[in-house]
Amino acid sequence: MGIRSFLAFELPPEIREQIRAVSKELQKSNLPVRWVKVENIHLTIIFLGSVDEDTVDDIKEKATFVVKRFPAFKIRLNAVGVFPHWRRPRVIWIGLNGDIDRLSNLRDELQKELKSLGFMPEKRPFRPHLTLGRFKGPLDRDEDMKWILDRYHDINSDLYYLNELILYKSDLKPGGPVYTKMATWPLSKENLGAAP
Ligand code: ATP
Ligand code: MG
Repeated sequence: MGIRSFLAFELPPEIREQIRAVSKELQKSNLPVRWVKVENIHLTIIFLGSVDEDTVDDIKEKATFVVKRFPAFKIRLNAVGVFPHWRRPRVIWIGLNGDIDRLSNLRDELQKELKSLGFMPEKRPFRPHLTLGRFKGPLDRDEDMKWILDRYHDINSDLYYLNELILYKSDLKPGGPVYTKMATWPLSKENLGAAP
């Protein structure tokens, strides 16, 4: 069976409130979307899938080794986007900017270490995003999507720190996924004072 697992950042409360405002407004549109509960929104770094119970400790060890080298990340909300294409959207999300290159390095380093445990690295470029919802069906009208992407093309929030990486377990329940923390890694804050 295994444990459905992923590595992600929980979001600071301030950014969660901004996401809540955007999500709430979008839910008033008539997009055919199943919206993610705002409390469940997180920034996935690596989706591990089904993990053997015996492997969890090895994952923790690898993550500890990598995370030590990364001070906290600064991010801000950038824009609403969709995968894979605005006319045929499957997922609606909020994109980020800030320390994206460093986040991408973190992912690469984690993938490198996890490969030795049998987790195949994701080859697609890292596109850090916060999933707001998933489409249940096709758009009624293209214009609905166009209008939303235009309205939220520049959210331009404040900068926030992501300062804890988390290994989550995900139980897929009829009422939605239930996430449980299996391990957390606080990131070093040594350079925070000097951050611009
Ligand atoms: P649900 O699947 O019920 O809609 P969910 O996607 O939030 O809920 P999971 O499927 O357990 O819950 O996924 C946990 C996290 O991992 C989510 O951020 C999800 O986007 C991401 N994820 C899931 N499957 C993959 C995958 N195949 N590749 C990359 N990321 C994935
Ligand atoms: Mg899923």
